[in-house]
Amino acid sequence: MSKPVLTVLIPVFNESRNIEAVAEAVFRVWQGIQDYAPEIIFVDDGSRDATWLEISKAVSARPEAIRGIRFTRNFGKEAAIEAGLREATGEAIVMIDGDLQHPPELIPEFIATWKAGYEVVRAANENPPHKGAFKKLTSSLFYRFLNFVSDTPIEPGSSDFCLISRTVADKLNSLSEREKFHRILTKWTGYKTAVIPYTARDRHAGATVYTTRKLFALARIAVISSSTIPMTAIFVAGVALSAIGILLVLGLLIYKFFVDFEYIGGSIILGAFIILDNGLLLLALGVMSLYQMAMYRTIQNRPTYLVSERI
Ligand code: UDP
Ligand code: MG
Repeated sequence: MSKPVLTVLIPVFNESRNIEAVAEAVFRVWQGIQDYAPEIIFVDDGSRDATWLEISKAVSARPEAIRGIRFTRNFGKEAAIEAGLREATGEAIVMIDGDLQHPPELIPEFIATWKAGYEVVRAANENPPHKGAFKKLTSSLFYRFLNFVSDTPIEPGSSDFCLISRTVADKLNSLSEREKFHRILTKWTGYKTAVIPYTARDRHAGATVYTTRKLFALARIAVISSSTIPMTAIFVAGVALSAIGILLVLGLLIYKFFVDFEYIGGSIILGAFIILDNGLLLLALGVMSLYQMAMYRTIQNRPTYLVSERI
């Protein structure tokens, strides 16, 4: 009887110098894994270098264990993960970066933890060595903001380095929302999760392909897909500003007509009206954003619940 399969999903973009090394590293680790057959899936996210050529070579060398998918162009890592999850046939899926920053040596521990009953095993980077002070600061500020507004908080510095069970992968595959941020969605599924600490290594070759623009796009998806607080904030600001405006206008008018007509000039009342007017406009926007929020949630079409067991 053939062994059950365990998928190793590797999204790659311009990683030609790392393909062979990462495949070799996974196979080296696999010498110590007896119970599962590896299924390595490289998703070439529209690389412009020789990445696909390297993947083809790796597949010809071990056609039984390696597969490749090539995108027509660069659609982004999240899209590559989504594609890989749909292709994966394993009983569990391990996701690792193609630059060897995520040590494959952790895979046996992933498997052991999964076997012990955890549906999600996440590796948390203790000490991101590849990051400069600026990147560290912006990343920690971003995670703070995200966790403040998001309905699904995630650990700062969390990466995509993880194992998910077939059950979790199926749930993720069944989600119809278009802008997926897998780190958050995996957490959102709510399955029992274990966290293994590790220290990320330096890149094997090449440089990070995450430009500021790409990071910004990711940040936008992370916030928008998991939070409606920015929209609610418009509504709240509208209510608050309208209330302040009404109080100011009424207070000033009452003071003018009942206490001291000369003291309150026309311009100060005009100023109060402007505040009230801005408040009313914001309120109108806020009411619309409440409806937009409802529409967004409907279009996003996330299930309202997931069932883990029935008896
Ligand atoms: N990646 C990808 N598509 C992209 C950007 C990155 O598939 O548009 C892959 C990349 O090849 C690597 C992983 O995602 O395997 C992480 O990228 P990178 O190492 O550049 O990010 P960092 O480690 O700096 O966060
Ligand atoms: Mg990297």
